[in-house]
Formats: sequence, C-alpha cells, structure tokens
Amino acid sequence: MWPLFALFLGLAVGSFLNVVIHRLPRGESVVYPPSRCPQCGHRLGPWDLVPVLSYLALKGRCRYCARPISPRYPLVEALTGGLFLLASLFYPPGVEALLVFLFLAFLVALAFIDVDTFELPDPLTYGLLFLGLLASWALAFPLPFRESLDGSLMAAGGLALVAGYGNFFLRRFREGRAEVPVGPHQVHMAALFGALLGPGVGMALAFLAWALSARTGRAVALPDRLTLPLLPLAFLLAPALGLDFLESLKGSLLAAGGLALAGGLYWAFRPLPEEGEEEEPVAMGYGDVKLLGALGAWLGPYAFLALFLGVFAGALLGLLLRQRKLPFGPYLALGGVVAFFFGEALWGAYLRLLGV
Ligand SMILES: [Zn+2]
Repeated sequence: MWPLFALFLGLAVGSFLNVVIHRLPRGESVVYPPSRCPQCGHRLGPWDLVPVLSYLALKGRCRYCARPISPRYPLVEALTGGLFLLASLFYPPGVEALLVFLFLAFLVALAFIDVDTFELPDPLTYGLLFLGLLASWALAFPLPFRESLDGSLMAAGGLALVAGYGNFFLRRFREGRAEVPVGPHQVHMAALFGALLGPGVGMALAFLAWALSARTGRAVALPDRLTLPLLPLAFLLAPALGLDFLESLKGSLLAAGGLALAGGLYWAFRPLPEEGEEEEPVAMGYGDVKLLGALGAWLGPYAFLALFLGVFAGALLGLLLRQRKLPFGPYLALGGVVAFFFGEALWGAYLRLLGV
C-alpha cells in the first residue's frame, strides 16, 4: 500500500513541480492563476490535469487547440512518481519519508529549471540547504547537525575552490576584478587562512575583509595571484604549524564554504540598486556551489561522491549527446539522488574493490 501511495503522491507532486518549473523563473505565483494551455491559453479542467494519464488519453495534444503538449510534462510527473516510489522502499511512512520526498522534489525542480534557464534559483538552492540543516538540527535526520553543517560548508568550499582555480587557469593567471563587498577573492582568502589558522579564524578574517570592503566601497582582498598558488603550499606547511594535513584541508574547505554560502546569500537578498544607479554585474555565479552546499547538508561527506558521480555522468552524457550543451545542475542533482540512496553501498563496494 505504502509504495503505491508514494507513487501517486509523487505523480501529483510532479504535476505541481511542472508549474514551479514553468513559473518560478518568470517570477510568477506558483498557486495562482490556475493552469492554462501554454499554446492557446484555455483554462485546463481537472480531466486535463491527471498526471501522465491525461497526456496519454489526449494522445499528447491539447483538448482545446489540438496543438502538441510537451512530453516534458508527463516525464516530470513520472520521474517524481518513480523517485517517491524509490524513497518509500527505504523509508516507512513518517516524518523522515516526508523530508526525503521534499529533498527529491527540490532536486527535480532545480534540475529542470537549470535545463531551461541555465540558472539555479536561490530560493530553491538555499531552501534545500536550510531544510537539510533545520531537519538535522531538530530531528538529527538526515544527519546529526554537526555533520550536516560541516558537509554543507565543505562541499560548497570544495566546489568554490575548483571554480576559483578553473577561472584562474582560463584567465591565464591574470588577476580577475574583485567584487565589492564580497566575492570569490574573499572565498579564496578564507581558504588560505583557514588552512593555516583553522576554519574559525580563516572565516573571521575573510568576513573582516568583507566588512571593510562594504564600508569603503572598494574591494578589500588579497589578489588571487597570491592566495591560489599559496593554498597548496599552506597544506604542505601545515604540519610545521602543528596541524595535520587533513585538519588543514578541512579548515580550508569549511572557511571557504562559509564565505561562499554567506556571500551568495548576500547577493541573493541584497537591496536592488536605486533607479539611475548603475546595475552591478551579478557577482558570484556559484549556482552549482550553492546546490552542492545544499546536497552537503543532506549527504554530509557523501556530497563529494555526488560531485564525482555528477562529473562522471556529465562526461558520459556529453560524449553520447555531443552537440547538446547541458548545465551542470541536473548532473549534480542526479549524483545527489544516487549518493543519498546508494552512497554507503557504493562506497563499501569501492573499498572492497580496493581490498581495504
Ligand atoms: Zn491549447
């Protein structure tokens, strides 16, 4: 009974997610007005909105204008139904199952919005992040709170640094413009100080630079030319300062992640520039960083497995689909789902393979 219920719930939620995916990037309400045919604008009745079945009964065409309906709609419904069904096999009815359903629904919405718009909306990435932290804090599910927080910061910090080095190489080591008041420069600073002085001090120094930068209106940061090349050196020198390598790496990722997620939150909610004022270029792309941070809140260290699976799936599908350019979000979401349900099993199998 329970798996069947989960399947039907998933189909219905998938139908709602179609609305979210369509309207959220346009800044429209997801509850009002009622659904209409995107082609002819005719209001849809209950018989047009039965998940998957309406599409099949109507043979993929609008009842009113007979123009084709995108197969995306039944696909999203079937996918969500399938994912909820999968979750019901792992979790009995209860609060935990409900949270896992929410986790999956957020990921489906994020993946398809990224396909459509090449953007991961902040309300969804931060929503997923805070939901994971909150649930861990209140219920110790999906993780003990400390693991959820550390996982989130380290995952975001790790990907922010990968992005930092990537951009640095692409610019051929030329210094990029530092953002005011906060941007990747302070994230890289936090990583360096975190590696040498621990996450607390590393984060504090970078937040200080952010505050000074906001106060003076000029970027207060060390150049990437300094921080990025020094970071690997800091890991090597850490033992001389009484930190072991792993501690140093962890400190660096925690500090960088803290800055990246706090900075992203600032840019998401900053007051809009006044009329006539020059619109600043939107800083800190970081959509994938925030998504991986959110996954970290749910997966802990397994977020890195999600990242690895995402890169692997992306490379594989990139080879198969050749011409189609896809954003990274859907692969990360896929990696996240696989790591959430099968992470421990995969990791165990990998260790057995190594004979550990
Ligand atoms: Zn129509």
